[in-house]
Amino acid sequence: MDQNSPEVMTAIQAAIKASALCEKIRMDLAGGESLLKSDRSPVTIADYGSQAMICKLIKERFPNDTIVAEEDSKELRRPGCSKTLERVTDYINAFIPDSSSEEVCSWIDFGSNSASGRFWALDPIDGTKGFLRGDQYAIALALIEKGRVKLGILACPNLYADIHHPFGEKGCLFLALKGNGSFQMDRWGVNKRPIFVSKVTNPSEAVITESVEPDHADHLTHQRLAQKLNISKPSLRMDSQAKYGILARGEVTLYLRVPSSAEPGYKENIWDHAAGSIIAEEAGGRVTDVMGRPLDFSSGIKMEKNHGTLVSNGILHETVLKALEM
Ligand code: AMP
Ligand code: MG
Repeated sequence: MDQNSPEVMTAIQAAIKASALCEKIRMDLAGGESLLKSDRSPVTIADYGSQAMICKLIKERFPNDTIVAEEDSKELRRPGCSKTLERVTDYINAFIPDSSSEEVCSWIDFGSNSASGRFWALDPIDGTKGFLRGDQYAIALALIEKGRVKLGILACPNLYADIHHPFGEKGCLFLALKGNGSFQMDRWGVNKRPIFVSKVTNPSEAVITESVEPDHADHLTHQRLAQKLNISKPSLRMDSQAKYGILARGEVTLYLRVPSSAEPGYKENIWDHAAGSIIAEEAGGRVTDVMGRPLDFSSGIKMEKNHGTLVSNGILHETVLKALEM
C-alpha cells in the first residue's frame, strides 16, 4: 500500500466528507441536543451521519471488507426516534442526494463486531462530549490487518492547523501509512506535509496531554507523575484522538491515559486508539500501555491485554514507564 492506493484515497475522501457533515451539524445544533444510548453516553445525529457515510463509501469500494464501528441503528429505528432518523437522513442527503432513511440505517449497519483478518476500525465521532461542548473531536478510521494497523486517518475538524496561530484556520487531517511516515493536511486534504514528534530529551521540559473527562483517565496520577519528573508546564486537556495528532506534530511530548480510579478495569476500544497510534508511531513516537506492553489490536473490539495507554516522543518513553511504577 502506498499514498496513492485506493484504500488511502477512499479513507481520505470518506474522512473529508464525514468531517464536513459533522461540522455542518455542529454549527446547526442548538444547545448540544443529544439522545442517550443504552450506555447513557451522548450520541448525536452526527455520530450516525458520519458512520453511515463512511461505511457506505468504504463498502462501495471494498465490498468484501469488514468495518468494525462504534454505532448501530437499533436505537435509531425505534418509533420514538423517527424525528432523529429523519434529521440524519436530511443531513446525509446534502452529501448523497436521494438517500432514504432505510438506506441510511443499512449503511450504519455495515458496521460489524468481527475484528479479525483484514478490517477497518471506525469511530465516527471520537470525543462526542467534546463535540457537544464545541471543543475537540475526531473522526478516526484505521485499516487493520492481522492485528497490525496499516493505515490511520484522523480528521480533527475543530483543531487549529498551526500552533503558532491557535485562532487561525481550523481543521486538520492526519494520515499515516505503515513504514511511510505521518502527514498533516488541511481539512480538504491539501497542503500535505510530513510531521514529526518533539525532540525533547529532558523530562522536565515535557508537556503532557490528557483527557478532559476525569472519568476517562486518572488526572491525579498524571499530576503526581508530572511532579516526579519536574514537569512544570500545565497539562493540555483535550478530547478525542486529536491528542495523538498534536503529539505526532511535536506540540506535546506525552499523552498519558492511566485508567481512572472510577473505572480501573476499563478496557479501551480498538477504534479509540488504532488510527491515533499509527499516526504517533510513524511520526517517530512510541505507543504502549502504561505497563510498557504494545497495544493489542488482535483480540477483538476491546484491547483486552492492555491497561491504559502511554504515548511519547520515544526518547522519554522508558523514563516515563519507570516513573509510572510508583
Ligand atoms: P477522550 O476524549 O480521550 O477522553 O476519550 C474519549 C473516549 O473515551 C470515548 O470514545 C470512549 O470510548 C472512551 N471512554 C469511555 N469511558 C472510558 C473510561 N472509563 N476510561 C477510558 N476511556 C473511556
Ligand atoms: Mg471514541
